[in-house]
Amino acid sequence: MERTPYSPPAFEAGHVWLCGAGPGDPGLLTLHALHALQNAEVVVYDALVSDGVLGLARPEAALEYAGKRGGKPSPRQADISLRLVQLARDGKRVLRLKGGDPFVFGRGGEEALALVAAGVPFRIVPGVTAGIGGLAYAGIPVTHRDTNHAVTFVTGHDATGEVTGVDWAALGAGPSVLVIYMAMKHLETIAGRLMDGGRAGDTPVAIVSNAALPDQRVLETTLAAAHADAAAAGMAPPCVVVVGPVARLRAGLDWLGALTEGRVLEADPLRLGRERQTG
Ligand code: SAH
Repeated sequence: MERTPYSPPAFEAGHVWLCGAGPGDPGLLTLHALHALQNAEVVVYDALVSDGVLGLARPEAALEYAGKRGGKPSPRQADISLRLVQLARDGKRVLRLKGGDPFVFGRGGEEALALVAAGVPFRIVPGVTAGIGGLAYAGIPVTHRDTNHAVTFVTGHDATGEVTGVDWAALGAGPSVLVIYMAMKHLETIAGRLMDGGRAGDTPVAIVSNAALPDQRVLETTLAAAHADAAAAGMAPPCVVVVGPVARLRAGLDWLGALTEGRVLEADPLRLGRERQTG
């Protein structure tokens, strides 16, 4: 085997790197994203990019916020795209940094299309999406051989901010594990429609808020109780909601809780990881 050292692509002036920042823990950045942070002259970042990640930008970099925060009017998507084009045309090395993965419910595709239209060269750097990495930080594998062979990633909001445009009853009828982004505003409606579609009220649900951040919280509940339990526990966005039997695996796999609280994990408390018995 030949050992080839990592050598990042050159970050050229006048280029935009559209990078995923992962769910929060800077340790989940890719090498390419770190390289971009260390070389960008301007970082245009979203609300969900953690301070720990932004802290890795070089001190001289200009940090421009382009996201929704605290009820203030958010910049229009077209304005953000325009800003990226403008900065690139000014000859800057532009890092467009988005929480999670830029192409998962992140409007990264729209921004990339705007760059294409403007003839601005760019690179896409995928990131760890909250619906996979955030669940892993809660001790929940998104697939598990004994529980599910399919996963559906779905948003609780569409572009209008409402819950339309998704056939929740069909998702409720299917067997797929559901990973719901932006679910909290309409959680009661969503859970109701999934149950109307046939998903059992006692289906395990886990809600992970601030996943992979120091204030991560996890609520284990069921589909029928999710809304009331989340309200009682004060679960606030950003949250990922997982619906399906994988949510129960946390009982045995909460590695982060075990490390921080000095607990010992119980081997396979649900007996889900066993080899299938024959005969
Ligand atoms: N591109 C992002 C998703 C952006 S949509 C990604 O791939 O993860 C914003 C939604 O992502 C939030 O409403 C929430 O559902 C989810 N999310 C992002 N970061 C999160 C985090 N650290 N903890 C929990 N949910 C998160």
